[in-house]
Amino acid sequence: MPTQTQIGLMSHEELRSEHERQSEKYEQLKAEKLVLDLTRGKPSPEQLDLSEALLALPGEGDHRDGGGTDVRNYGGLAGLPELRAIFGELLNVPTANLLAGNNASLEIMHDLVVFSLLHGNVDSPRPWVQEPKVKFLCPAPGYDRHFAITESFGIEMIPVPIRPDGPDVAAVARLVADDPQIKGMWVVPTYSNPTGAVYSEEVVRALVSMPTAADDFRLFWDNAYAVHPLTEEFAPAYDVLGLAAAAGNPNRPFVFASTSKVTFAGAGVSFFGSSDANLAWYQKHVGKKSIGPDKVNQLRHLRFFGDVDGVRAHMAKHREILAPKFAAVLRILEDRLGPTKVASWTEPRGGYFISLDVVPGTAKRVIALAKDAGIALTAAGSAFPYSTDPDDMNIRLAPSFPSMADLETAMDGVATCVLLAATEHALD
Ligand code: PLP
Repeated sequence: MPTQTQIGLMSHEELRSEHERQSEKYEQLKAEKLVLDLTRGKPSPEQLDLSEALLALPGEGDHRDGGGTDVRNYGGLAGLPELRAIFGELLNVPTANLLAGNNASLEIMHDLVVFSLLHGNVDSPRPWVQEPKVKFLCPAPGYDRHFAITESFGIEMIPVPIRPDGPDVAAVARLVADDPQIKGMWVVPTYSNPTGAVYSEEVVRALVSMPTAADDFRLFWDNAYAVHPLTEEFAPAYDVLGLAAAAGNPNRPFVFASTSKVTFAGAGVSFFGSSDANLAWYQKHVGKKSIGPDKVNQLRHLRFFGDVDGVRAHMAKHREILAPKFAAVLRILEDRLGPTKVASWTEPRGGYFISLDVVPGTAKRVIALAKDAGIALTAAGSAFPYSTDPDDMNIRLAPSFPSMADLETAMDGVATCVLLAATEHALD
């Protein structure tokens, strides 16, 4: 079979016939008139069903937490202590330093950027808007919505390459040591979106201890996938607040998490962990926009989980649904693209994404071909600051939402598009 040869080693004639073969396959694909979507990392309906019991909780007559707080009333800006204790243990953040909030951690991240811009944080000499320029480091490929927040406020984004164990910390340390305008860095420490990178302890220690020219530099430590392994092993949650404090930088990390991909996406509970000083500062400002979070939803989650083991057992059920889908994507990529050497991809041990690198200069073309064949892929470059992939080679795959049958059809189609674009490019 021609596809068993590396495309880079083919003669011109071999390439032409391979291109013809893939063109034919592509025409057959288009004739199937598919309507498939691999764009966003959303839980599937089957995963949402795992939390259906939440809809009947806490139930009539159950409206007080263990401390006697009536969750139906205003107040309690910090959130319910028992729920904070459960997620504090999972995230390795002391309960006293973890707040439980509303339905979206992204909203807290956005607030923190806005509060820093308008007021400055506890270590700022002045509000960030009064600085000539504000910059953020952005490990890339990364989470598009992080980059959208910083872009929307005109914060300059500096891409930093990401490796399987986190960003290149030597490069990061050099940048932050020299430039006082670098005020923050986006971090997804566990099963990073989209590469699946898991930050090593060494990388975590380096990030919390490196000298920074800006005293008010902050790590936006988004542990969105802390409890989302695809194997039986949970990734370690490092005591990032303790390590930062021990290194003399207690206020550096802003830690985030949520149950968006644990219970209901967009109707879960968010968490924010940080130093005492940072939490007091945050509560002073957030207290102007809210009298307190939705504690009924927090009680509902507390009743649903019960304890830390309840969360872990629940995540095992997600894993049973998700792991076969990830395995199917990896199998199809290997079968269709492995021998041709036209692509490489991550094999994540958790999280929601697979990051696919195709022949440089062809990602846009692959995505356009797939679109014309009815397969929606995340827009080219979306995992990079300013939506610009410098090599036009990265594609984020989100296997969670489609059914297994749709996922297999879509991935086979994507592989055809990758091969067609690669042969076109080689003939160019
Ligand atoms: N952070 C990361 C890294 C994500 O991938 C996502 C969702 O995809 C979120 C945050 C969104 O979290 P939330 O629903 O709590 O706003």
